[in-house]
Amino acid sequence: MNEIDAKNMLVAIRIRPLNQKEILNNDRSIVRVEDNLLIMLDMNDFEDRKNILHRSREKRYIFDKIFQDVSNEIVFMNTVSDLIQPALSGINACVFAYGPTGSGKTYTMIGTTEDPGIAVLTIREMFEKVQSDSDKIYEIKISYVEIYNEAIRDLLIPNSGYLDLRDDPTRGVVIAGVSEFTAESTEQVMSLITAGNKRRTTEATNANQTSSRSHAVFQAMISQRDRVTNTVLDVFQGKLSLIDLAGSERGNVTENRGMRLFEGSKINRSLLALANCINALGDKSKKGFFVPYRDSKLTRMLKDSLGGNCKTVMISNISPASSQFEESANTLKYASRAK
Ligand code: ADP
Ligand code: MG
Repeated sequence: MNEIDAKNMLVAIRIRPLNQKEILNNDRSIVRVEDNLLIMLDMNDFEDRKNILHRSREKRYIFDKIFQDVSNEIVFMNTVSDLIQPALSGINACVFAYGPTGSGKTYTMIGTTEDPGIAVLTIREMFEKVQSDSDKIYEIKISYVEIYNEAIRDLLIPNSGYLDLRDDPTRGVVIAGVSEFTAESTEQVMSLITAGNKRRTTEATNANQTSSRSHAVFQAMISQRDRVTNTVLDVFQGKLSLIDLAGSERGNVTENRGMRLFEGSKINRSLLALANCINALGDKSKKGFFVPYRDSKLTRMLKDSLGGNCKTVMISNISPASSQFEESANTLKYASRAK
């Protein structure tokens, strides 16, 4: 039995390599990994410049999976790969890339031609699995939208207007009017999402920190037909959602349990609502209690894919650099809560 079967939630950490800027800045890596244990050195140990490392000042965290210096393929095989068969057999699932801007969320989800990300690897594995099914014909449709300032826009077409969410009796939550493309090849999917990504909202004030406040939601929806009779067996059997979340740096979600206190503030509403839903779902003492899906567009969109039988993978991304200590510590704290 793979790990996600047991608890429906897998929390992984991905540490990106030091980047050029960090190397030039003489940043050091403050992260050490021993299997499932992540050790982060306390920045104060560097600031006193004596290089005396006090064990008591290390922060230690345990996660389901920790990835450092590995390809997207390895990340995929150890996380999302376990969601493909369930999605094909009708179980909805969500994968979140969480972390501050620049930590590697988009790299993980979309990747490059040399190191294709989870979206493409997901479609590839779906193709492989469905081609070996001799009874049924599957169709995989994809959509890709952005949530920015609580408004949904289609990323697969130019100049999209705003889209609304609807509850459909057979399909669950649907994005009314969203464009859905039938997935034909991994190359086609890669080029659709690469083009879509260029349409994400960027902030004029901080042009090199692209899309830091928008969430990008890629969905793959599977339907089945009987191979002999050609009748539709189930329209939209399962749905796999891959979410490249807004940068966590402004939300400081780890400090704020109750979002209502911060209503109307600049904090990213969807990011905060997601944290509240995940906390409510994960809190054993609160099983069956209220999960605040309606508090944001993101959580409403994922209402049929979070909790219950649904499977969730959270990939939290960090930089190993000493200068990113605060953000990394916040990210690890958030991820620890989700377990
Ligand atoms: P985010 O989406 O979280 O803002 P990005 O995915 O855009 O961050 O990553 C920031 C930069 O770091 C990009 O230039 C990206 O190519 C690079 N990068 C991120 N993760 C990795 C990785 N695992 N290996 C190599 N380069 C990476
Ligand atoms: Mg990004």
